[in-house]
Parts: sequence; structure tokens; C-alpha cells
Amino acid sequence: MNPSADPVDAVPLDGAPTSAPSDVKPTSPGAVVDAAQAYLLANGSVDHYRQSLVDGVERVARRVAAVDRPFTGVTPDELAPLVGGIELDRPLGDHITALNELDELWLRDAVWFHHPRSLAHLNCPVAIPALLGEAMLTAVNPSLDTWDQSAGATFIERRLIEWTATRIGLGPTADGIFTSGGTQSNLHALLLAREEAVAHAVDADARAALLPRLRILTSSAGHFSVQKAAKLLGLAPDAVITVETDAARRMCPQALDRELERCQRADLPVMAVVATAGTTDFGTIDPLPELVGRCAAAGVWLHVDAAYGCGLLVSPTRRHLLDGIEQADSVTVDYHKSFFQPVSSSALLVRDRQVLRHATYHADYLNPARAVAERIPNQVDKSLQTTRRFDALKLWLTLRVMGPDAIGALFDEVCLRAVDAWALADADPRFEVAARSPLSTVVFRWCPAGTDAELADEANRHARAQLTASGAAMVAGTMVDGRAHLKFTLLNPATTSADVTLVLDLIAEHAGRYAHDHASEQSDRPADLSCSVA
Ligand SMILES: *Cc1c(COP(=O)(O)O)cnc(C)c1O
Repeated sequence: MNPSADPVDAVPLDGAPTSAPSDVKPTSPGAVVDAAQAYLLANGSVDHYRQSLVDGVERVARRVAAVDRPFTGVTPDELAPLVGGIELDRPLGDHITALNELDELWLRDAVWFHHPRSLAHLNCPVAIPALLGEAMLTAVNPSLDTWDQSAGATFIERRLIEWTATRIGLGPTADGIFTSGGTQSNLHALLLAREEAVAHAVDADARAALLPRLRILTSSAGHFSVQKAAKLLGLAPDAVITVETDAARRMCPQALDRELERCQRADLPVMAVVATAGTTDFGTIDPLPELVGRCAAAGVWLHVDAAYGCGLLVSPTRRHLLDGIEQADSVTVDYHKSFFQPVSSSALLVRDRQVLRHATYHADYLNPARAVAERIPNQVDKSLQTTRRFDALKLWLTLRVMGPDAIGALFDEVCLRAVDAWALADADPRFEVAARSPLSTVVFRWCPAGTDAELADEANRHARAQLTASGAAMVAGTMVDGRAHLKFTLLNPATTSADVTLVLDLIAEHAGRYAHDHASEQSDRPADLSCSVA
């Protein structure tokens, strides 16, 4: 790949004054400090601040405007030596030169999620009001742990938690906290569930005896962060029990009954059922109304992982797909997936605010117990983090500028795209489609009738690699029932059916060529390992 074949590189910035404070090399130690201090945001440096950000924004804007494919196809081997060769102890001294360097190292070969053929992961194009929020929150730099580090930001975060809890329908005792992502939200939820499950242990010995017996039930399509959380929470290696899914990749309620019963017989207390509203691999939603009753009857904590499906909370036409979520004990939402927010923006919501006390510790220097009595608000008592970003500001500005209906309309739009894309792939004899998603995921595989299944596996992997290498499109890969599949995660309303058709054609072309070139190697395989006639 040739880095210089790039129109943006050739365009100089319009004579922006750098106002870099270090044009003159400082001589005395005092002068060094003075020069360094000019880089800190303060009354006297606002011009430098303004210009730096404008220049940086200008670089990104030019890149975004010039993007004609989601990726350049750059390889790790090409980029690693460039980054590795930077002398970090030798600063460039001004931001324009640093931006030029950064352009080579990163921006030129970035992955662009706003491109209509960026179809791989759960990365959304980002709302501009949220970007405004991001720029503002980092400059003011409040930390949301205590009131004396955040002031009004505390109340903005609280209002958004309240708003989200109301959208979910969690009731008057609900509360929650912004987190770094779904992984942290799930960990936090399971910490609370674990503490509730061991609350009746009479002493430390009883608690220690209980911990390795605790079980978590989630479907085979649940997120791997549940496993990670179980490990961090000191549970047994086999603490997470996989509940079978039906043909639509939704947790099977009868299978949940069986597992609950089996755990009860074996005297293994189930500390939580984790239902998924929008599985990462299939975009499917567990049958929440059928799960809530079962969890209530068994006295088991129900956590709903809606990291992906949370966009339905503002959908004008699809909110009913989340029915039952209002009965959950805790809910994970990732605004950075389906609310068009930049990373990070996520939250954990709980039905009963009292349970948040399980993460409360007091430090004399920060949040002494006395402050609670004085009714000084703080958020650190509810959070796993201490110093914490004001991520809430991004969602706040998005809601205040665009409003929830606009976000919901965008999410509806990508769900509609998935309906179209699924129909296109389903009607195409070159492809097989997996479970249909009520959200915006399409899982499929290139496998024309009669193709050897293992050859098709390799052909699908090859096609994906070729798309990435050419930068023509980004699609994801996954395994379904032991077979290599491809996946579209459609989070860009700008993606059209024509884009989908084009990408399907490219996949078929790459995969077909690969299969043709490698067919002879597979000719001695048994016939039953081939793709079914569509
Ligand atoms: C993405 C995802 C997570 C993890 O969220 P992060 O924000 O990536 O940490 C958890 N659960 C589901 C269902 C997800 O799709």
C-alpha cells in the first residue's frame, strides 16, 4: 500500500497560526516551567486551546469528508514499525507537526464507521451533539466521583439514569450509574447479585462455603463478559451454566426450567439469570416475558444485558420487543452501541437502589460517611470506579439537541436495513442465512448447493480477509454450530440495499474464486459434509 496516494495528504492546512508556546527554546529551569505551563489550559492559554482543537477537528473533518472506503487495508506489519520508530522522548514542539505525524500513524489508515460499507462490529456512526459533549467534558474535566469534583455534572448524570430507568420502566426505587461499557456494567450487576445471594450467610466461613457453589445461568449466545465477571467475582470455574437456545437463538424457557431444577437438586444456589436483549452474535432477544416469571418464582436475580438492544428503548415502533425488561433486577445499556454515542458511554440500572450499597466504601479523604449525613450528593458510593469521566454529557447534549425520537428513528432505520439485507441473502442461492434478528444483525455464509462444508468455511474466511485487505467493506466473522459464518452488524442508517448487494457480490466473488482454486484439495471428503440444496 502506498501511503502517499492520498488526496488529503496533499492539502496543507490553511496557514493556521500554531500559537505553539515553545517556539523559543527555554534556557533556564524557570523558563522550562514557563514554557511547559503555557500548554496547560488556563485563563491565559485559551487561544492556544481554541486553535489546537480547531486544527485537530479540521484534520478529522477533512479525512471524514474524503473517505471512500471503510478501511485502507493497512496491515499490522506495515504500521507497527512506524509507531515503534517514534522517539517519544523527543517532542516535536508544536501540534501541527504532531498532527502531521499522527495523520501518518493513525488517521490515514483509520477504520471509518460512518462509511456505508462498514458492517462489521457494534460500532455506530456518532452523533455530532455527542462529539460536542466529548470535546467539552474533557476540557472541563470533572470527575464524577464526588460533588466537589463535578458539581452540576452529578445531577446531569443522575437525570439521565432516571430517564433511562423510566424508559425501561424499573419503577420509583430505581437507580444506576454510568460505566465504561457493557463489560463493566455486567460485572457490576453480577457483583450486586452475588452479594444479594450471600447476604444470608451468617459469617465469613458460611460465605466462603457458599461462593464456590454459586451458579449463573445464561444462554449459549450470552456475552463472554459474563464468564469474565464470574472469574473476577471468585466463583467456581464452572459457575456459568449455559442454557440451551431455540432455533431462533433465544434462551429456551423450558431449558431454563431444567437448569434451575438441576441446580436446586444439586444444592447449587443460582445467583443470577443473565438474559440478553440483543445477542452480540445474532442480534436476538431472549423471551423476557417468559423468563421474568420463572426468575421471580425461583427467587433468582434477573439481569438483562441490553448492551445492544437498548436502542429499542427510544424506538417509535419496536419498543415492545423489550417487553418484560421492566421486571429485571438490573439492566445493562450501551449507549455507545445503539444510541449513536462515541465510546465510552454505558450504564448499569438497578430496580432497587439499596443494592448499590454493595459497592460502597468510605474513604476519609473522599467520601466520608459524614458526607452522607450532610446529604452532599456523590456518585462514587454507587460505582466500581473512583475517578470517572463525565460521559453522560454526550448523551445529554444528544437528547437536548436531537431528542430521543430522532435516535429511535435512526435505530429503527438500521433494523429495517437488516430486514432488507436478510431477505437479500435469504433469496440468494449463493448464501445460507442463520437466525433472523429483530435488531440489525444478519448472519450468513457463502455456501452454494453442493459446496464442501469445510471448503466453504475456508472460502468465507478468505472472502472476509480479502474485503478487509481491499478496504472495500468491513464485515465480521463468527462460528455458528461449528461452521464459519459472516456477519453484518448494521448500525449505519446511510447503508443502502445497494451497498448490501455490492458486498454480497464481492463476498461471492472472493469465496467462489477461492473455492474454485482449492476444490481439488477437498475432493476426497464424504458427501454429507456439503451445503444443502437451497
Ligand atoms: C458489546 C456487548 C457487551 C460488552 O460491552 P462493551 O461495551 O464492549 O464492554 C456485553 N453484552 C453484549 C450483549 C454486547 O453486545
